[in-house]
Amino acid sequence: MKPRPPSPAWPRQVTVLAGGVGGAKGADGVYRLLPPHTLTVIVNTGDDFEHMGLPISPDLDTVMYTLAGIQHPEQGWGLAGDTFHALEMLGRYGAPTWFRLGDKDLATHILRRHWLDRGMTLTQVTDRLRRALGVQARLLPMSDDPVRTVVMTDEGELPFQEYFVHRGARPRVRAIRFRGIEMARPTPEVLSALDAAQVIIFAPSNPYLSLDPILALPGVRERLRRRREQVVAISPIIGGQAVKGPAAKLMQEFGLPASALTVARHYREIVGGFLLDTRDAALAPEIEALDMRVTVVDTWMRSPEDKVRVARAALRTAGWMV
Ligand code: GDP
Repeated sequence: MKPRPPSPAWPRQVTVLAGGVGGAKGADGVYRLLPPHTLTVIVNTGDDFEHMGLPISPDLDTVMYTLAGIQHPEQGWGLAGDTFHALEMLGRYGAPTWFRLGDKDLATHILRRHWLDRGMTLTQVTDRLRRALGVQARLLPMSDDPVRTVVMTDEGELPFQEYFVHRGARPRVRAIRFRGIEMARPTPEVLSALDAAQVIIFAPSNPYLSLDPILALPGVRERLRRRREQVVAISPIIGGQAVKGPAAKLMQEFGLPASALTVARHYREIVGGFLLDTRDAALAPEIEALDMRVTVVDTWMRSPEDKVRVARAALRTAGWMV
């Protein structure tokens, strides 16, 4: 990455709230546009789970691999050029193989297990991993306390990965719970990343599954409400549909219209700026009526240039002429 000289027109600190794929794209745009140490990413850990003794943090790893430039280019999880020999062998032993763990990816989980067992926090482990991969932005798990997303469906209660990966998000969802959230605390690093940021960006992540767990931590909503003018959300809905995953399906199951307006309403108390996709431009007046500054832009990010364009639009919506 080319180092960029600092400019007084640029914010010194930008904090992005992120889930997995949409989160990684949103964060990567800021990372490419501004000096890399400007960026802090607060990442959802509600999707974390333990699998065959290994602590898996899917969203943290997706963001970390993306900023390191080593993510798989299409599938939205895992590493480029990974192989699956260990998984194949696990299958021969009769172990579950529905969660696709690549050989290189396993190294991340093995080391995370090792360091956590030696008493490091998830925040410390993540910091060591990202530094080793040359990521210059700070990556923060939302909490060091376990929070586990549980999905209430018409087929019963399912742990998040069981619903999302094993069952392909097919069961109808009635409600979503974040087990452990009452006891969980955002880390001091997370709170100071919110307090110190000049701009806070909500990546186009799933509002219910990826950003709500972060927002449910004590103290987070109040901080954002106070800073509403500096908070900008990027819509994960384009033309009434999710680019990927169950965001639009969940809206329908909750009896809400599958639209960017539903996203804006969901964030209305804590978000002052909204990036609306060009395909949804007709919704702009209704979103502005929620007292939000709306920027209409192509938010579909298929290339590095797309990500930078979206990041620039988000920062401009917050008043920075980057
Ligand atoms: P997950 O944990 O991997 O499902 O990741 P996220 O919650 O971070 O991201 C999923 C959301 O990102 C979905 O609702 C998608 O619609 C959205 N998304 C993915 N790619 C894009 C994109 O290029 N543009 C926009 N606007 N949204 C996207």
